[in-house]
Amino acid sequence: MTVRQWSRFSALRAPVQRALHGPHVLAFIPALALAAFWIGGEALLVAAALGAPLLYMIAGGAPPPAQGSMAAGPGDIVNTITATNLAQAAVESARDATLTTACLLVEVDGLTEIGQRAGENAADAFRDLTLSRLRNALRRDDTAVRMGDARYLVLLAPSLRLDLEALLHLSTRIQNALEEPAPIDNAMRYLAASIGFCGSARLKEAATGKQMLEAAQIALTEAIANGPSAIRSWSENMRSAHKQQKSLQSEIQRALSNGQIQPWYQPQICTSTGRISGVEALARWIHPERGIVPPAQFLRVLAESGKMQQLSEVILQHALTALRSWDQAGLDVPRVSVNFADAELRDPKLVQRIQWELDRFGLTAQRLGIEVLETVIAASPEGIVARNIVELGKIGCQIDLDDFGTGHASITSLRRFTVHRLKIDRSFVTRVDRDEDQQRMLAAVLGMADRLGLETLAEGVESVGEHALLAQLGCDHVQGFGIARPMRADQMVDWAQEHAARIAGAQKLGRSTG
Ligand code: C2E
Ligand code: CA
Ligand code: CA
Repeated sequence: MTVRQWSRFSALRAPVQRALHGPHVLAFIPALALAAFWIGGEALLVAAALGAPLLYMIAGGAPPPAQGSMAAGPGDIVNTITATNLAQAAVESARDATLTTACLLVEVDGLTEIGQRAGENAADAFRDLTLSRLRNALRRDDTAVRMGDARYLVLLAPSLRLDLEALLHLSTRIQNALEEPAPIDNAMRYLAASIGFCGSARLKEAATGKQMLEAAQIALTEAIANGPSAIRSWSENMRSAHKQQKSLQSEIQRALSNGQIQPWYQPQICTSTGRISGVEALARWIHPERGIVPPAQFLRVLAESGKMQQLSEVILQHALTALRSWDQAGLDVPRVSVNFADAELRDPKLVQRIQWELDRFGLTAQRLGIEVLETVIAASPEGIVARNIVELGKIGCQIDLDDFGTGHASITSLRRFTVHRLKIDRSFVTRVDRDEDQQRMLAAVLGMADRLGLETLAEGVESVGEHALLAQLGCDHVQGFGIARPMRADQMVDWAQEHAARIAGAQKLGRSTG
C-alpha cells in the first residue's frame, strides 16, 4: 500500500468501523467493495471480495504500514484491537525474515497534574511533544503510537540483535528523551516515564503479537509499581507474580463485596474536657485465615483495580450505621470521620451521594468528618477534587487536613477548602515531651493554626507524657494508641462507657482535692 493509499484507507476506517457494527453489515459489503477498489485498485477489490471476515479485520485495525510514523497522527489513539494487530504484524514480519522484534510500552507520569495546573490544552501539547520525541528516539522503520491518555506503544522493526542489553539501552535513551523538561504554557514542565518491554526472542517460537503485547503490559505494570522512572523487562517469573497479584486482586474485591472489609474506629479526645470529640473510621480486612489485615496491605491493590469508590461507599455505610447505633445506645460521639483518597474525591456524584446517605440515616452533615490528605489538597487547586471538598464543606461536613506537615498545602488553600481542623502528623508528635526541637516545631504549628482560627488534632499520641505536653501546648484534640487502639463498633460502646466513667471519677477526685 502506498502512502496515499494508506491515508485514504485511514480516512475511511472510522465510518467503516461504524458501519460494520451489527448484523446490517451484509448490506454494506457492496459499498465496501467499491471503496476498496477506490483505495487499492483491483488487488484490494479481490481481497475485499473474499468476504466479510477480512473486511472485519480491516475495520478492527489494519496491519501496519511499513513506516511506523504513519500508523497514527499526533492526536490519534489506537485501541487494544489495533495495538494487537500492529504487534501481530511486527511478530510476523520478524518471523518471516528470521529476525526479532520487541514491544515497548511507555507510561508518562505527570500529565494529569499538568492538566490540572495548566489546563487540558497544555497537557495535550505535552502528549504530542512526547510522541514526536519518542519517534525521534527511534529508527525510521519502528512504530510509535499513542494507546491512551498517558500510554505509548512502540514496535521495533525486525532486527538481528534485540537482546536484553540492546533493549535496556534503547529504553534508557527513550526515557532520557521523554524526561527532558519542556516549556509549556510559559513554565518548564517535567514528566517521568516508566517503560516495560518484551523482546520476541524471550517468547516461545510460535508466540503471537497479543502475547508479546500482554508481556510488555505486565512489565510496564511492574515498572509503574517501582516508579517513577523505572524500566522493566518481561520475564517468565513476572508472569507468575502477575498471576498471584491478579488472584490477590480478585480476593480483595470479593472481600469488599462480601463485607469482610469494614471500618474499625479510633477515638479522638478533646484535651480540655477529656470527652470524646469524634472517632476515625479506619478500614480493616477481617480475613477468615489471616486475621485482621491493615489497610497498607490492600489499599494499593484496591486503588489499582479502580475500587476506591466502592471502598468509600462501604466505609461510609458502616460508619453511619455505627454512629446511629451509638446514638441509640446513649453514647456521646459527636462525629465520625472517614478517609477519602484522591480517587474517591474524583466521583462527580460524591456530594449528592453523601447527602443522600445522611438523609437516609437521619443524620446531619455536621456529624460527618472528611479526612483529606494534605498532599491531595496541595495537588488539586482546582477541578473535580477541589469542587467536591468545597461542596462537602458547604453542606456542613467537617474537613480535616490529614497528615498535616507532610505536604505543601498553601494557607490560601486552607481557606479556600474551608479546612476546619489540622491533623498534625505523627512524625511531629512522637517524643514531643522529650525533644525540644520537636516542641518548638509543634508550638509553631499550633500558633499558626490558632491565628488562622483552625482547630488542631495530634495524631499518633502513644504516651501519657506526649498527651500531657500536647494539652499544655494548647493542642485541641488527641488521638493515638496511648488513648485507644482502633476497635470494632460494638467494642466502642464499652470503651466509651468506661471512658465516661473515668472522666466522671477524675472530676470527682478533682473537686474533692481542689
Ligand atoms: P491515617 O489516616 O493517617 O490513619 C492513622 C493511622 O495511624 C492508622 O493506621 C492508625 O491505626 C495508626 N495509628 C493510630 N494511632 C497510632 C499510634 O499511636 N501510633 C502508631 N504508630 N500508629 C497509630 P491504619 O489504620 O493502618 O491506616 C493507615 C492509613 O490507611 C491511614 O492513615 C489512611 O491514610 C489509610 N486508610 C485507612 N482506612 C482508609 C479508608 O477507609 N479509606 C482510605 N482512602 N484510606 C484509608
Ligand atoms: Ca486519617
Ligand atoms: Ca493521618
